Amino acid sequence: MFDTVECPYCDHDNDMSDGLVDLPSDNKFDHECVNCGEEFEIEVEFEPSYSSSKIEYVNCQKCRRETRDPAKKGRTFPWPKQIEETELCISCFLIELEKQYSKEEESHV
Ligand SMILES: [Zn+2]
Ligand SMILES: [Zn+2]
Repeated sequence: MFDTVECPYCDHDNDMSDGLVDLPSDNKFDHECVNCGEEFEIEVEFEPSYSSSKIEYVNCQKCRRETRDPAKKGRTFPWPKQIEETELCISCFLIELEKQYSKEEESHV
């Protein structure tokens, strides 16, 4: 983000800190130089922002496969009661979830 923009006519630094209030959708607007009075076009470029987090691999407690995105007890809902493990890969988790559902169906019959 910028705070000043240089006038293309006189090189004067124009303060832009309150020029972003009603920014048009194409991020371009005209501005009159406070120094020489010439109008010029400003195009705002927003820097992309990134957020980062560590990649953590955990081993599925059932099949021992490494997974980046495990189902975790306390974080994944619903957590079938019969799962004794606390971290499972998604495929093991889905298998257990399925078991849970079929069990429930049986008990309702
Ligand atoms: Zn100027
Ligand atoms: Zn697994």
